[in-house]
Amino acid sequence: MPTHHQVLIIGGGTAGIMVAAQLIKQKNLTKVAIIEPAETHYYQPAWTLVGAGTYDYAKTGRPMADQIPKQATWIKDKATEFDPENNTVRTATSGDITYDYLVVAPGLAYDMSLVPGLGDALDKGVVCSNYTDPKHTWDVIKNFKGGTALFTQPATPIKCGGAPQKIMYLAENHWRKTGVKAKTNIVFATAGTVIFGVPEIKKTLMEVVDRKDIHLRFHHKLVALDAEQQIAWYELTKDPSAGGCTLMAGDDFKQLEGSFVHNYKDIKITVKDGRFGIHYDMLHTAPPSVAPKFVQDSSLVNEAGWVDVDKHTLQHKKYANIFSLGDVAGLPTAKTGAAIRKQVPVVVDNITLLIERGHMGEMSYNGYSSCPLVTDYGKMVLAEFDYDNNFTPDPKLKQMLISDSSKEHWRLWMLKKYMLPYLYWNKMMKGQDV
Ligand SMILES: Cc1cc2nc3c(=O)[nH]c(=O)nc-3n(C[C@H](O)[C@H](O)[C@H](O)COP(=O)(O)OP(=O)(O)OC[C@H]3O[C@@H](n4cnc5c(N)ncnc54)[C@H](O)[C@@H]3O)c2cc1C
Repeated sequence: MPTHHQVLIIGGGTAGIMVAAQLIKQKNLTKVAIIEPAETHYYQPAWTLVGAGTYDYAKTGRPMADQIPKQATWIKDKATEFDPENNTVRTATSGDITYDYLVVAPGLAYDMSLVPGLGDALDKGVVCSNYTDPKHTWDVIKNFKGGTALFTQPATPIKCGGAPQKIMYLAENHWRKTGVKAKTNIVFATAGTVIFGVPEIKKTLMEVVDRKDIHLRFHHKLVALDAEQQIAWYELTKDPSAGGCTLMAGDDFKQLEGSFVHNYKDIKITVKDGRFGIHYDMLHTAPPSVAPKFVQDSSLVNEAGWVDVDKHTLQHKKYANIFSLGDVAGLPTAKTGAAIRKQVPVVVDNITLLIERGHMGEMSYNGYSSCPLVTDYGKMVLAEFDYDNNFTPDPKLKQMLISDSSKEHWRLWMLKKYMLPYLYWNKMMKGQDV
């Protein structure tokens, strides 16, 4: 006989633990179980600071056993398959587990095959990522002697979309202090079309980019990495000839219109088979990201491979007793812990009401997400926004004497480095409202 739980949660990350803690602490549910294989729970937002040498990596992880609420059942295993028609989840070693309600929150996975060459190069030599080994990032930044410092990201959705540029701003600050900056071209290459989608934040960040003399390249889709030659290969996602430009190597690339390049620098470029190769002396990237394979292989996903939930209720579009949130959910907003903070109460409310009264609640998730963009050691901009990219700053910031969080502020840096980790471990993980 399979084991049965009233609420079964897949994943003990930010989303899974917060849902379990709120169901237990705020709604007094007792039959909650979490399937989670890992021994350690990480506060990933601090990895940006680890990569910049200003936060201790050891402090970003705590034993999973201390995060899973005591009243919840911890199934220390991996979910491997869904059978939603029979309210069943298969696991690697614990057999089948059945549920009344299922919360799917195993986060996202990295698929290095989407950028050939990246998997072998990552976290070695001059190729680094705060997503996979922030301690190595700091080694690379510290040991950098000058040349082209390339910061980039894949064209897939990633968690915390701002993280690939946050580390660039901090690296620039470090190299300015050490004098390496004078021998360096800093390049940010992205498949995107703007530095940030929220107009108020974009304005500030473009000022930061200009102050730091950073060369931006838009419409650049990272397609391969040649670690031996130190070349990152890109395809342009927009036809440059549409802008009246001739697509050529070297100096002629300067002629590309402004939507492709900002603050041009004469860096080494190789053009081959229609691809642009940027030669780098150090490279930081986020890994290409997808839903975990067992999720992709299930009947739960949308066309893009993410869990197919209603964007306001977070209920699965086909299976009414399944909810999903966090990085794995197919929601058209930025994948962050901050977004999860606003998603959790909706899932918790809906599941509790379904159990107690047989109907869904009225709460609606508006796509809120936030990105704390550190711009220097001691400075930060806080991007808070909704599904429509409206700038939606938290009124509580006024109590911190921050009147405009779209502008750089030292108090926001204090929030990122000290307050948010404290709130995360002591309030959010414990089922309290923040
Ligand atoms: C470098 C970096 C910087 C970031 N900066 C910020 C920031 O400043 N602000 C912010 O809000 N967010 C930030 N984030 C994003 C934030 O950390 C994530 O959005 C958040 O942790 C996602 O939560 P989750 O629960 O969906 O997934 P995770 O927290 O990743 O947890 C997923 C859990 O599921 C488990 N799991 C995986 N597969 C299975 C399986 N088969 N069965 C059972 N369990 C499984 C995993 O072991 C893991 O514990 C950052 C992330 C990174 C990497």
